[in-house]
Amino acid sequence: MGQLKKVPVTRHSYVEVDLQAIQNNVTWLGSLTAAGTRQMAVVKGDAYGHGAVEVARALSGKVSWFGVANVAEAVELRNAGISENIMVFGVPDEETAPLYENHNLTAVISHPELIPILPDGVNAHLLFDTGMGRLGLQPDKVDEVQNALKQSNIRVSGIMSHFPCSDDPDSAKTKHQLELFREISARFPAEWDRHIHNTGGILYHYESDVTLVRHGIGMYGYDPGPNPRDELTPALSWKSKVVQCKPLKKGQTISYGARWEADRDGWLLTVPVGYADGLPRNLTGKISYRVGENELPVCGTITMDYTMLFSDDPVEPGTPVTVLGAEANDARILAEASGTITYELLTRIAAKVPRVFKQV
Ligand SMILES: *Cc1c(COP(=O)(O)O)cnc(C)c1O
Repeated sequence: MGQLKKVPVTRHSYVEVDLQAIQNNVTWLGSLTAAGTRQMAVVKGDAYGHGAVEVARALSGKVSWFGVANVAEAVELRNAGISENIMVFGVPDEETAPLYENHNLTAVISHPELIPILPDGVNAHLLFDTGMGRLGLQPDKVDEVQNALKQSNIRVSGIMSHFPCSDDPDSAKTKHQLELFREISARFPAEWDRHIHNTGGILYHYESDVTLVRHGIGMYGYDPGPNPRDELTPALSWKSKVVQCKPLKKGQTISYGARWEADRDGWLLTVPVGYADGLPRNLTGKISYRVGENELPVCGTITMDYTMLFSDDPVEPGTPVTVLGAEANDARILAEASGTITYELLTRIAAKVPRVFKQV
């Protein structure tokens, strides 16, 4: 028998997820849609870094669908006992096709050649590319798709599309896509599902002639558009603690490259969060952490496992630090400082950083 590995009790930093905030965000997003419109909670990318299984459990019974990127993510949810509809956005192939049947997953058909691959009886929706420019059937191929479906015994019950620019409130492209989607929808049975709205679509381009909306980033508390939104509460906080505090003399430098030099005497604090944990290294010099009651600037290059802070006063080792969260930077602020988007910042927090869930 192999040796059992000890579960590490050390926790350098951890992510705290407020499941109640996610529930409230889902309720609010739902209130923006017409009565009877169903909601799909998008939990791909481990629920944008929040922990897919726990988020799905917290939303079970509150949404009618979950959306994931691939079959592996879907099977994880089924194994955790999630019984709602699960849509797999990704492309089925010969190897994964049986899993759609075994786990009762809804496939997305984004190419006519995928239709014969899927086992009889599998549920599917048709994805049309109305302007996203990624996956999807060409809008002028409706006849071809309908013919291919006649030869098949899969159960298609919806059509869908996706917006690339819905975070822009003035997007003309999005308006055009809505029109095109309506034209395509008219060629399929009226009782089928129709869905195209992501969070930006719900917030800025909502049209009530859809049966379902698919929200990701909004559920986690962020408006993808130009401004934060009070009605949405960010659900994720990233916390750590000071592991060391030592005196720093004017003229001393901090971290690799010796690029930061103390302009006065003070204290050097070390916090065990670095780029191996998913903190972008290019946030060096651009952010502060919340340490106890104070905001202290990140000084010197962010390293693989540590960030250093400068303080005028000594700080007790063990003092709590908030890297990201309600009382400090939110993910939008960090993403902007890092030159990326909230989605990437959140999903790049490493899987090794434990997720802790505030109970609902
Ligand atoms: C990720 C994704 C969504 C959710 O997008 P948000 O902008 O996070 O709301 C919806 N639909 C599809 C197909 C997606 O891939």
